[in-house]
Amino acid sequence: MSFWNDLKNQVNEINDTNDAKTKAIKDKKIAMDEQGIAYCPKCLSVSVQPMKKGFSFGKAVVGGVLTGGIGIVAGSIGANKIKMHCNKCGYKYKA
Ligand SMILES: [Zn+2]
Repeated sequence: MSFWNDLKNQVNEINDTNDAKTKAIKDKKIAMDEQGIAYCPKCLSVSVQPMKKGFSFGKAVVGGVLTGGIGIVAGSIGANKIKMHCNKCGYKYKA
């Protein structure tokens, strides 16, 4: 059954590249931190939005997420920690 052999090989490949993947994720996080891009710490999706009450930049931020320009918006918020919500996995965190 070549299907199962293929599957087995694929699993082995995943295990082999696990370290490389972890490193790639780490590099991606560092790169996004440097660029000021908001991302979900759980799934690394950049589809995140602030939950702060009365926060009027919501739509602007969502638009910024789509174009990858959230860094500018996040920078303008200042030092205030805001609650962020991941649209992909639903994870909530403070940024
Ligand atoms: Zn997420």
